[in-house]
Amino acid sequence: MSIARLGRGTAEALLADGTTVTIRPVGPQDREAVLGLHADRMSEESRRLRFFGVSRDAPLRAADRLCGEPGDGLLCLGAWVGDELIGEADCEIPDDRPETAELALAVADRWHRRGAATLLLEHLVHAARARGVRVFEADTLAGNRGVHKVFADLGLPVHRRLDRGEIRVRVPLDESDERYRAAVDERGRRADVASLRALLRPGSVAVVGASRREGSVGRTVLARIRGGGFTGPVWAVNPQAAEIDGEPAYPSVAALPAVPDLAVLAVPAPAVADAAEECGRVGVRALVVLASGLGADEAGRLTHACRRHSMRLVGPNSLGTAQTDPAVRLDAEFGGAFPLPGTAGVAVQSGGVGIALLKRLAWLGVGVSSFVSLGDKYDVSGNDLLQWWESDGRTDLALLHLESFGSPRAFARTARRVSRKLPVLTVDAGRSPAGRRGAASHTAAAATPTVIREALFRQAGITATRGIGELVDAAALLHAQPLPAPRGAVAVVSNAGGIGILAADACADAGLLLPELADDLRRLLPGGASVRNPVDTTAAVSPTELARCLEALERSPSIDALLVCLVPTALATDPAHDPVRALLEGPGRRRVPIVAVLPDQEVPVRYLKGADGHPLPVYADTVPAARALAHARDRARWLAEPAGEDADAPGCDVRTARSLVSGFLATTPEGGWLDPVSTADLLESHGLPLTTSVWARDEHSAVVAAGALRRLGYEGKVVVKAYWPGQVHKSAAGAVRVGLRTDAEVRGAYREFAESFGTRLAGAVVQPMAAPGIELLAGVVQDRVFGPLVVLGMGGTATDVLDDRAARLAPLTERDLTGMVTELRGAPLLLGHDGAPPVDLAAVRSVLARLSRLATDLPELVEVDLNPVIAGPTGAVCVDARVRLEPRPSFDPYLRRLRRPAVAEEA
Ligand code: ADP
Ligand code: MG
Repeated sequence: MSIARLGRGTAEALLADGTTVTIRPVGPQDREAVLGLHADRMSEESRRLRFFGVSRDAPLRAADRLCGEPGDGLLCLGAWVGDELIGEADCEIPDDRPETAELALAVADRWHRRGAATLLLEHLVHAARARGVRVFEADTLAGNRGVHKVFADLGLPVHRRLDRGEIRVRVPLDESDERYRAAVDERGRRADVASLRALLRPGSVAVVGASRREGSVGRTVLARIRGGGFTGPVWAVNPQAAEIDGEPAYPSVAALPAVPDLAVLAVPAPAVADAAEECGRVGVRALVVLASGLGADEAGRLTHACRRHSMRLVGPNSLGTAQTDPAVRLDAEFGGAFPLPGTAGVAVQSGGVGIALLKRLAWLGVGVSSFVSLGDKYDVSGNDLLQWWESDGRTDLALLHLESFGSPRAFARTARRVSRKLPVLTVDAGRSPAGRRGAASHTAAAATPTVIREALFRQAGITATRGIGELVDAAALLHAQPLPAPRGAVAVVSNAGGIGILAADACADAGLLLPELADDLRRLLPGGASVRNPVDTTAAVSPTELARCLEALERSPSIDALLVCLVPTALATDPAHDPVRALLEGPGRRRVPIVAVLPDQEVPVRYLKGADGHPLPVYADTVPAARALAHARDRARWLAEPAGEDADAPGCDVRTARSLVSGFLATTPEGGWLDPVSTADLLESHGLPLTTSVWARDEHSAVVAAGALRRLGYEGKVVVKAYWPGQVHKSAAGAVRVGLRTDAEVRGAYREFAESFGTRLAGAVVQPMAAPGIELLAGVVQDRVFGPLVVLGMGGTATDVLDDRAARLAPLTERDLTGMVTELRGAPLLLGHDGAPPVDLAAVRSVLARLSRLATDLPELVEVDLNPVIAGPTGAVCVDARVRLEPRPSFDPYLRRLRRPAVAEEA
């Protein structure tokens, strides 16, 4: 079997019912298929609605029109299921009016009402936008309800004009329409969940490669599915055995009594692709592949079989999956023990981590709704699971272990939505360069730098932890206690002063606030207690006194969380004196979260049940307790701020920017740094405040330019900078002269440049001197995997020493702008420090919002470095800008399509 290579412009995506379709441009080779679609697979009535009449040769004419030699005037996309063309969407772009394209759609009758037209339209919208089309227009018959519903549901604004039984529809393709994106997301979610049903709620399961050999993977999985009490039929497939464990085995998937929803492939790597193809042919809807070590060719064939036959795929290199829902009860894994039923969703990239995580959750007593070992993630990824848990009506806590991201931008967007509903926690694995090396060889995952991952998690409202222990610690709190108020002010209470001090330190290290308390607790506690926070009750405290103290703190408006450390004392061996009683007999769920530290406990974290049955998280040490509180505080903060719209950047001239880019890439196809003049033009197109910069090719022009600019400069001064192509750090090379007042000084500066740089010197840039202010760095970096990232930092010539940066994935929201400005260590300098007036924050925000727009408008923009942007009380101005471009295909991270695994792509 040959693998159809996924050509340019080809994508695979899910219909509303979960069917996988391939979408690609239609060409001359598709004539037969297009003719068949219009002539055979559309009813007379569908044809009448499509062609406004019953002309016999309409299908022929359609095939001629759509399958000519590809030209500029027509975009036509077809959707295939296997070999069947199920629909097409096309638009004609007139030469004289390329902004407005005439749209047409056709879907085979038997594929109606499955979202094919909408999916095709979404892809056509994307392709048309990339070609500069701004509006779709279409003539439709008033009676064509189907097509009107497609338009109405699309999420784009639709204008209709009725004209003699025909409706002229006009759809503006606004680029930044959040309503459209939300509609696309919702369709994506529904399709994804539909496609995952066979995997996560299968009605029947086959184990392919189930073996009689004791201890083999196949046999283990089969035994576990049976032993776990799976609610549907389980079949074993093995051509060599007639029965396994006393139950019949079947020679092939085709020989089974019915088509299984899910097949677990326990065959060795070289046999995986053929087994998958066989499953696909009989109609299996989901696969779990346990084998590891697939070569590029097998990987390609496996993915191809899954896409072609509409199967979702977990793995390869998966440990399996477990579903505890009593209606399913599927234990199809060969790792740890079947998890307790419960409400935590768990997805891990590494099976080993999965086993460890399940074990820890079991110790804690947290049950699991579904567990999936994702393995090499050829298809199903964390993103899919998040959407499933969001929708399954059972899961209220999502735990992920991720080493890599296939579609990080789509993941960030999904996670942002899901995190509003339930806490999403992840172990951020592969943070360090060494860890990434491990991750890459471990599961063939792409490396992803730390700063970007942090930005991704923060934006998405994900609780990112540094290990399994920290994940479980944080989960224990988020699962059982209310969130603190966003301020996160903690009162530490202990019956042993030393532990209280350690807890206070741990809180401070975790960035939590410990407000000083008033004296009024003193009357509730034994003499000798100290009550300022940390509160030391002394070992003599009775459970009643302690309970009163906790209640008082809980009512205090200055406190958002309680951390209680209790050390067993000689007194406590008498139950009447056991201070833990005070915790457990108090109200279980309080206004504020409460965590306890019992330093003599053996497990790192466990629950103690309160009198009302409510669990109280108890840690063995102060550090994890404080860190868990800090995670809860961060989540509260994230939830408290509205998600917000994309940051506002009015008046951006995309057209000019695009033509600058294509002009540059036409002469420099491999890409590179823009010269100062084009840099200024590009920044100006998006309203970025580059200071007036005049290009001077020689000494005389520099003097003339300086004369003209002097009055714009601070105290009448100008700046002259030597320029040569490819320069990096100008001041380090002695190429910047600031504060020049007179012609003589300018002339002198230029002569020095000529002397030191000789023939390299191409000329100089002359600028007015900017008023003093805070020097910031603002820029864009394009990550291969994550896409564009906007960065803000403390800037100027000491940038690297300061190493103070905040980053977010573009597009930025208003909330991101606030986050970036406030999270810099140097933020106090911006907000007005030591009597200095605050800088113009609106101007700084505007720079970031415009960079975000520039980055999203121009995928070719791989690097923008504005350093410094000098921010003062009345504005911000950039005095040094560098821009690098590279050729890149246009890419919409939010277009609905299935991921392509890196390995399969090489095949
Ligand atoms: P480079 O970053 O390549 O060394 P810059 O153009 O950023 O060169 O200049 C270095 C420093 O000189 C800036 O950080 C800033 O302090 C100062 N500077 C440069 N241009 C101006 C200007 N127009 N007004 C005020 N200060 C300037
Ligand atoms: Mg600079």
